[in-house]
Order: sequence, then structure tokens, then C-alpha cells
Amino acid sequence: MCLICDRIEMIKNGINPYFVKELETGYVVIGDHQHFYGYSLFLYKHHENITELFQLEREEKLKFLEEMSLVAEATSKAFGAEKMNYELLGMGDAHLHWHLNPRRKGDIGNYGNNGAGPVWWYPMEKMYSDDNRPSAEKLESMKEKLRIELEKLI
Ligand SMILES: [Zn+2]
Repeated sequence: MCLICDRIEMIKNGINPYFVKELETGYVVIGDHQHFYGYSLFLYKHHENITELFQLEREEKLKFLEEMSLVAEATSKAFGAEKMNYELLGMGDAHLHWHLNPRRKGDIGNYGNNGAGPVWWYPMEKMYSDDNRPSAEKLESMKEKLRIELEKLI
């Protein structure tokens, strides 16, 4: 089982504290670490042998992409992004999942190209530092903000 399948299992069992909302093709969750405030993920519902966007049937793929775009819009509005960043990677866990990062000028400090560039130009140990984990209270308020914006769009 992969980490994302585990997290989805927790959602189904009602014990995933990061869970925000279920959509038709996936689950919206808040990221574990919040260096990029509002970092959220959209997890595709299925894994099995699917590891690439192009393996999905056309209708399903378009729905998944549309819903991802709505989650990004809600994330942007809920957390005040200057620009959204979208990533579907999968060398860690091949399960289809979008990383949706609200970006703001200066958020990678002096790293990258004079402070500009993708989130992964910021050092991993800083991005995933325990200092960036939201408190239970903060997490609840973030989930509520995102849920409100999602409900306006869906
Ligand atoms: Zn999986």
C-alpha cells in the first residue's frame, strides 16, 4: 500500500485530520507542512495500476482536471495566493495526486534564482520542518476556510 492509499483509508474511516472534502474524482486535504501557507493536495480516488494522467479515460481525466482546477481556485481564494503552483509528480508515491501551492513573493527567501523559482528550490529540511506543522486549532480553521470556498464553486 502507498502513503496516499493509507491516507485515503483514514479518510474513509473518519480519522484523517487533514481531510477537507470529497469530490467526484478525489479527496481534498490540507498539506502536513505549511511553509507555503495554504498548501493543499487533491488525491485521486483510485490507484490500482493507474500512475499516469494519460491512463485515465477521457471523461474521467477531464473531470479530474476540472476538479483540480476548482480546488486550486478555492485554495487561492481561501489563503490569499499571489500565484498558484500546480504539481503532479509521483516519484515518491506514484498514486495520482496534485500538490497545490499558494505562492507569494519572497516565500523561498534568497534560495532559487534570487528568490524566484519552484517550491522545491527551497531546502527540503526547512520545508518539512516540524515547525511548519499546523496546530490542531490552526488546521481546523484552515479546513473551514477551504471548505467554504469550495462550496461556493462546486
Ligand atoms: Zn495509492
